[in-house]
Amino acid sequence: MSLRDLPPVDALAAAVDAPRAVAVAAARAVLAERRAQLLAGAADEVDLGARAREWAAASGRPSLRRVLNATGVIVHTNLGRAPLAPAARDAVLAAAEGYSNLEWEDGGRGSRHVHVEPLLRELTGAEAGFAVNNGAGAALLAVAAIGGREIVVSRGQLVEIGGGFRVPDVIAQAGARLVEVGTTNRTRLSDYADAIGPETGAVLRVHRSNFRQLGFVEDVGIEALCELGVPVIDDVGSGALDPVHDEPPVRRSVAAGAALVVFSGDKLLGGPQAGLLVGRAEAVDAARRHPLARALRIDKLSLAALEATLRLHRDAPEDIPVLAMLNATDLRARAEWLAERIPGAEVIESTARVGGGALPLVELPGPVVALPDASLAEALRRGDPPLVGRIEDDRLLLDPRTLAPDELETVVRLLADHLPGGAAGLEHR
Ligand SMILES: *Cc1c(COP(=O)(O)O)cnc(C)c1O
Repeated sequence: MSLRDLPPVDALAAAVDAPRAVAVAAARAVLAERRAQLLAGAADEVDLGARAREWAAASGRPSLRRVLNATGVIVHTNLGRAPLAPAARDAVLAAAEGYSNLEWEDGGRGSRHVHVEPLLRELTGAEAGFAVNNGAGAALLAVAAIGGREIVVSRGQLVEIGGGFRVPDVIAQAGARLVEVGTTNRTRLSDYADAIGPETGAVLRVHRSNFRQLGFVEDVGIEALCELGVPVIDDVGSGALDPVHDEPPVRRSVAAGAALVVFSGDKLLGGPQAGLLVGRAEAVDAARRHPLARALRIDKLSLAALEATLRLHRDAPEDIPVLAMLNATDLRARAEWLAERIPGAEVIESTARVGGGALPLVELPGPVVALPDASLAEALRRGDPPLVGRIEDDRLLLDPRTLAPDELETVVRLLADHLPGGAAGLEHR
């Protein structure tokens, strides 16, 4: 085929069964692609009609879509972190459908923060609190609002959290000067005390979310830091209200008297992407009034999901998917249900991780479904919906821990599509 043989746009569009605008766009895109290939010397035969139909189908599919997470990694940052509880999803829908009282009190102008502050106070014991767009934003805002000219940080906590979020850069961006104390592995109370002076705005403590230090290590507890006589900002990261393994509980830092405790909404809190700041009334107020607060403000859909999730923490924490997955007790039944319906599959013991930069050392042992052929992983990743498992010893493992109960049927269907003789195999069972 040469350039002269290419069909006109209209003729190619007529071969695409789609709304006219889509068909024309598909025809244009495919012709442009083919022209470039021919100019580059391509000599192969291409079914332009089929290619245009493919293009049209793909352009109708949302880019952001549901993925089935069978990795066992509960807070998987690449897969959207925490799935929302039904109550949180309902709240998002209700807020999206119509207008809302987002910033409307007694018929006048109100604050969006009133929707979560009472719950945050109740759940954490703090005097005050509010939410912003994400955890990184909350940390930046905390340092900007009360960090003063100098902010004191242990050298063991000058960490990178992920996605290039580095503590020294955050402090610089907030307009404060970093004063490093102690060493990488050991920092004592006296190191802090020696560094505190008239320029000090706050001491910042940052949880080493995604790694741990072992051996000759010394750190100062939050209670001792809060007795130094300067405001303490505690970035606890994952947002465990109560202790979850060795994650720092929000409540403990609040009780110790931290000026601001900062954490994420979509890690162990199990809610939407959000950043929470709770603590002393004066410090929370300073953060709320800081100009950055407006730039980082939370949107109404996330706020709706956050309020509903916080309500569940109070009333029915077992209904929060992230917590339910951490504590799941029906994994064997689910693994066996799957294995019975997937030809060649067997149930074996394996270990999952929490993920999302939380609890890097914690292993969650449990039964998983093992498939002998790991090469299947690629096809399943490209499926509709995509299904992601984990590969171990040349086997593809599907961990039921991170699959919702209503996703199990879909997993069986996807595998039936991809296993040789899979669908037939299913019918004989
Ligand atoms: C995850 C994390 C952040 C960033 O929170 P995001 O909600 O991901 O923006 C900040 N600090 C610590 C210690 C964290 O673990």
